[in-house]
Amino acid sequence: PGTGRVASVTPMSEAPREEDLFLRIIAGEVPADVVHSDDVVVAFRDIAPKAATHVLVVPRTRYPDVTALAAASPQTLAHVVAVAQRIADAECGGQFRLVFNTGAAVGQTVFHVHAHVLGGEGLSFTDL
Ligand code: IMP
Repeated sequence: PGTGRVASVTPMSEAPREEDLFLRIIAGEVPADVVHSDDVVVAFRDIAPKAATHVLVVPRTRYPDVTALAAASPQTLAHVVAVAQRIADAECGGQFRLVFNTGAAVGQTVFHVHAHVLGGEGLSFTDL
């Protein structure tokens, strides 16, 4: 019962850790260029950067996407935004684009919520 959206989210949130690349990065099993770490989130550089600054801010707790995160823990979502601002302050003059791909049809490939923090040289302004 319920909506297709909720039904499709449930199995992913129960997937084993080996199937969640970002949990493996958080655990230190997969190397990453970590720029920020605290009790709530880990932030590391995207392996295929789309701009001079391209950092992923990832909650330590797995939620499949930003909608699930916002529903379950708005304070964690607010913390993701605060960390994004801190990274942009340090790297690209405090200005940044924050992207949450939500769904495979728009390009989400890792179903553990992550904010793309994009800024600095190379960021296209014609995409949006
Ligand atoms: P999505 O397409 O919004 O799900 O974003 C996933 C992002 O993770 C992509 O931008 C990938 O380039 C990035 N990515 C995939 N594997 C790794 C990795 O091992 N380290 C860092 N970033 C990664």
